[in-house]
Amino acid sequence: MSLTVEARFDRASERAGSRDASSATRSLGTRVYLPACAITAAAAALIAIGWSTRWGGADFTGTLTSLRVVVIGPATLVILSLLLIAERLWPAQRRPIFARGYRHDVLYTILNATLTLPFVAALSLSFAEVVRHRLHWLTFPRVGWLPHGLAIAVIFVAMDGCNWAAHLANHRVQALWRFHELHHSQEDMSVLTVFRTHPFVHIVYLVALVPGVVLIANGGLSTTLLVAYAGEVALAHSNLRLSFGPLGRILVSPNYHRIHHRLEGRQDVNLGFALTIWDQLFKTAVMPTRDTVAIATGLPGRPLRVEHGAPRPHHLAVFVAQLVAPFRPLDDLDDVSNRGADARTFSP
Ligand SMILES: [Zn+2]
Ligand SMILES: [Zn+2]
Repeated sequence: MSLTVEARFDRASERAGSRDASSATRSLGTRVYLPACAITAAAAALIAIGWSTRWGGADFTGTLTSLRVVVIGPATLVILSLLLIAERLWPAQRRPIFARGYRHDVLYTILNATLTLPFVAALSLSFAEVVRHRLHWLTFPRVGWLPHGLAIAVIFVAMDGCNWAAHLANHRVQALWRFHELHHSQEDMSVLTVFRTHPFVHIVYLVALVPGVVLIANGGLSTTLLVAYAGEVALAHSNLRLSFGPLGRILVSPNYHRIHHRLEGRQDVNLGFALTIWDQLFKTAVMPTRDTVAIATGLPGRPLRVEHGAPRPHHLAVFVAQLVAPFRPLDDLDDVSNRGADARTFSP
């Protein structure tokens, strides 16, 4: 008898315990967006693994230096400067030289050059270490008959395909979209918009490292090739009237990528980074026309606070709000003033 009572008591307290736990989760869920927190926790766990294994013996400083060369090295800075000049000469949309969106993207450029780079270096080394040593069946041995140049080409094309797939996931999975929507919030597209990204968006793009890790015994992408890749992605964001002619069937041009950022119409099209082949293969390509060259860009209804949303830009406050936004609960729409403002009310 007493055993039965105790068992009932245990079950009752178990139910009460699970009710407490679920109501605590619900209560936490009203204050933060839990899936975004889970993604951040996964990144922290990954970096903890990398840290504990000393990055699998890889050179952290060397990796960070290579990343710096690709993102803000001399060649990249020359490319960015030339594109900034070209934007003044052949703009898709004519704007003041210090337009709001440009000033705001400078903040993201600084963020990328300072905090994001070491974060991405730690993430990349940790991910490569996990794939190499815990998923070692994924890595290919040296293939004798595969020419070095062909191996490089395969890694390059496969990396671009992985970036396309990760980009598609950013648009189709809500938790990922919350980190990616910042990139789409730009209403003054320029070459610096390539830097307008949330630091945690890089977690999903780790998948682009897989081809390089799988084929590491057969070759690796040189820094020069990665600088060219970064330059092409930056060019695609520039405020230029440029479609590359027949080459635009293969390479992502500014006219092509602008359609991906359009204010009206589906944005989960033209997802390619450097190559348009993936969009054509999976029927997500929309080729530019005379009408799309200078179309408006941004997010309909401004779900994210933007620098254009008030008479004054409040760059720093907006910058912080944008970085915090993915962690805010979905129904947290207290930025009524920002959401209600018409997309073109305040500029430059
Ligand atoms: Zn996108
Ligand atoms: Zn973009």
